[in-house]
Amino acid sequence: MALLLRGGRVVDPAAGVDGIFDVIVRDGEIVEVGEDLTIPKGETIECAEKVLLPGLADVHTHLREPGREDEETVASGTRAAAHGGFTAICAMPNTDPVCDTGSKVRFLVERAAEEGVVRVYPIGAVTKGQKGEQLAEIGDMVSEGAIAFSDDGHGVQSGGMTRIAMDYLKRFDCVLISHCEDESLVAGGVVNEGVISTRMGLPGWPAAAEETIVARDIRIAELTGCRLHLAHLSTAGSVALVREAKARGLAVTCEVTPHHLFLDEDALSRYDTNLKMNPPLRSHADREALLAALLDGTVDCIATDHAPHAAHEKELEFELAPFGTTGLETALSLVNTHLVATGQIQWADVVRLMCHGPRAALGLPEARLAGGYPADITIVDPEARVEVGPEWFVSKSRNSAFAGASLLGKASEVLVGGVWALRNGKVVA
Ligand SMILES: [Zn+2]
Repeated sequence: MALLLRGGRVVDPAAGVDGIFDVIVRDGEIVEVGEDLTIPKGETIECAEKVLLPGLADVHTHLREPGREDEETVASGTRAAAHGGFTAICAMPNTDPVCDTGSKVRFLVERAAEEGVVRVYPIGAVTKGQKGEQLAEIGDMVSEGAIAFSDDGHGVQSGGMTRIAMDYLKRFDCVLISHCEDESLVAGGVVNEGVISTRMGLPGWPAAAEETIVARDIRIAELTGCRLHLAHLSTAGSVALVREAKARGLAVTCEVTPHHLFLDEDALSRYDTNLKMNPPLRSHADREALLAALLDGTVDCIATDHAPHAAHEKELEFELAPFGTTGLETALSLVNTHLVATGQIQWADVVRLMCHGPRAALGLPEARLAGGYPADITIVDPEARVEVGPEWFVSKSRNSAFAGASLLGKASEVLVGGVWALRNGKVVA
């Protein structure tokens, strides 16, 4: 079955294209990108006014299966990903039970093959049960398809254990993803420490609780030679440390989330638990520093940290509610609304930050809009309006920090290996 995607703006800096072209897809692969292409038989999709990007990848998704299938499953989470324009997601291991053995990685790989509509790459736990005491079964997990390792949700508290893990991961050329949180410094904090924690009368979470671990893990990466990826950086100090590490040539990459880029602590006055994050929303100055780091190349990728939560848990009072916001279905629209439509970045930058950057950071297979590559393609309607109401979400959870927002642009079609995952804005069943 051949497909002709006709007359869209095809953008892929890695393939050296940005212009109006046709794309031919056959047998799951991109056959050709060029002008005035035709196919003898098959289906033609008119893509005028649309933007075609190589498949977007999210390096930070919480699928909640196994353990909290009421919040998200592989089936619902991959459909939420397709709805948001992603063709690939990386699944964090802090499920119940924790994904810390080869058989648990295999469970996820098989589940994704049976029920997923986008590609799912498992991330294994660094330590058994993410307890920070003993190394998890890294080798077995690599054999079963784990692509990186993280104790996301807590972070590895001990520097000594982090060193042991990095020494070991280096042998597999695997990345350690650091959730940068010194729990002894967080000490029950729920919002950024400073004016906002005082005004709200809530325990503060200092920037130093993140920055000390960023600094520590960069030093341990340097010591061991292991690749390090820093998750959801939220402070000016953190991105300054990464900028310096990169200037010294270290193999350090980092991500920022849409909620830390487009929201700050000033939004918190309503005690809305959908704005309770780990790490917390920071100051306006931090947010500006993240944006500057995004623009100067310090930030490798935008990651969603999609964290679905049951409504009855988010409805608890602020201190008791769980941390996190969903993100897969709003990320691309937010990036378009705040960065592309305002002229701060170009579509080629979106490809860098949401396709090539994330794939390079974790060593995922490359995506290109070029002949011979798998047909993993995100088609964007940049003028479509998105009202982020309850009916917008395909995810099982509704805890979005951007609920009620009116956004510009959304994915209209998603192809994964030449198979439709999203068509005319609707997720394929
Ligand atoms: Zn995390």
